[in-house]
Amino acid sequence: MTNKFNTKNYDYLIVGAGPFGMTFAYEAALRGKRSLIVEKRSFVGGNTHTHTENGITVHDFGAHIFHTDNKEVWDYVRKFAEFNGYQNQVVANYKGKLFNLPFNMNTFYQMWGTKTPAEAKAKIEEQKTAALQELGDRQPRNLEEQAISLIGTDIYEALIKGYTEKQWGRKATELPAFIIKRLPVRFIYDNNYFNHRYQGIPVGGYTQIFENMVDRSNGLIDVLTDTDFFDNKEEFLNEFPRVVYTGMIDQFFDYKFGELEYRSVRFESETLDTDNYQGNAVINYTDAETPFTRQMEWRHFDGLADEGKTIITREYPQDWDRTKEAYYPVNDDKNTDLYKQYVKAAREDAPEVLFGGRLGKYRYFDMDQVFNDAFNTVRQEFGVADDFNFAHDDVK
Ligand code: UDP
Repeated sequence: MTNKFNTKNYDYLIVGAGPFGMTFAYEAALRGKRSLIVEKRSFVGGNTHTHTENGITVHDFGAHIFHTDNKEVWDYVRKFAEFNGYQNQVVANYKGKLFNLPFNMNTFYQMWGTKTPAEAKAKIEEQKTAALQELGDRQPRNLEEQAISLIGTDIYEALIKGYTEKQWGRKATELPAFIIKRLPVRFIYDNNYFNHRYQGIPVGGYTQIFENMVDRSNGLIDVLTDTDFFDNKEEFLNEFPRVVYTGMIDQFFDYKFGELEYRSVRFESETLDTDNYQGNAVINYTDAETPFTRQMEWRHFDGLADEGKTIITREYPQDWDRTKEAYYPVNDDKNTDLYKQYVKAAREDAPEVLFGGRLGKYRYFDMDQVFNDAFNTVRQEFGVADDFNFAHDDVK
C-alpha cells in the first residue's frame, strides 16, 4: 500500500496549527521527530492569528492578550517573538455611562461614590445580603449568585448581566459560577484587567511565533494548509502511527454521543480616517440591547501605527452550529458529563491519538494554559523530566 499522506515517514500527524499543535510539533522536532500538520484554514496560529494592515496589527479572531504567572510559558513564547509591555485596561460603556473594569476602587467610585475600601465593601455586603438571603453558607450555584456575592447587585445589573447573557446566549442563572471568577475584584485603584505577573502582545503579532517554529524545525515540520482532516479521516488514521488532534473532540467521534455546546463569534471591522476613534483598545458594551459585546481599536494595542487611519472591530456573539467556528466551550454540568463520555471513548477507541488545546480538551483555556497543556503532553510523550527547559536545545 502506498501512503498518500505519510510520504516522508512522519512520526506524527498533527491536526490543527494552533498553539497546541504547533508547540507539540516544534518540541517533537527538537527531539528529531518529524511532523505533518494539517490545518483546514489557510494560515498557522489558529485563533491567535494576526495580520498587519496600514501599519496596524489586527487580531483576526478577537483580542488576544498574553498574560500568565507561568514563567516557563512566558520564557518560552518570548523565544519566538518580542513582546511589548501592553497592559489591558478595559472600559465599560453601560447606556452611555463609563466604568473602569475589572471591578476595582475606580468602578466602585463611579457606581456609588465610595472612596475607601471599607465603604465599598460595606456597600457590596449590604447588596449581597439583600439579594441573596437564602444563600447562607452554601457556595454560589451559578454565575448570577457568584457575581452578586462578589460585587453586589448594582454592578451585576449594569456591567455583568447584559454582557454575560449576550456573550453566552443564556441566562446568567444557567451559567457556571467559575466564568465570572476569571475577572479580578480588587479593593485598590488598579484597572489592570488581569492579575498575572507577565503580560504583553508580540510586536508585529502572533503569527510569527508559529512561523518561527516551522522555520526553526530544520525541515522536520511540514504544514498543509487548506486541508481538512475530516475529508480523509480514515486514511490519515491508517497511515500515521501517532496523531495529535486539536479540533473538537465530539467531531472526532462523529458526534456519536451528541454535540457538545460551543459559543461562536462574528467580527465586523471598519477602517476609519482618524488616528484615535475610541481612546482605548477595548470598550465593552455591557447593556443587553447593543448586539455586540465589545469594540476593539487595534492601534492602541501597540501604539506603532502611523497617524491617519484606525481599524476597529466589533465582536458579536452567536450560536454555534456545524457551519461555524467554535470559540468557547460551554463548561456547564451537562456538557461536562457529555465530554467525559468522549474522554472515555478517546481512551478506549483511540489510544494512538493525543487530544489537546481548547477544543480537544473542551476547556475554557487561556493561551498560556494551552502552551502549558502542550508542555505536559510533550512531557508525557517523550518522558521529559519536569524541570526540563523547553526549547533550549537546538534542533538536532
Ligand atoms: N464579563 C462581564 N462583563 C464584562 C466583561 C466580562 O460580565 O464587561 C463576564 C462575562 O460573563 C464573560 C466573563 O466575564 O464571559 C469572562 O470575561 P473575559 O473578558 O475573560 O472573556 P473572554 O475575553 O475570554 O471572552
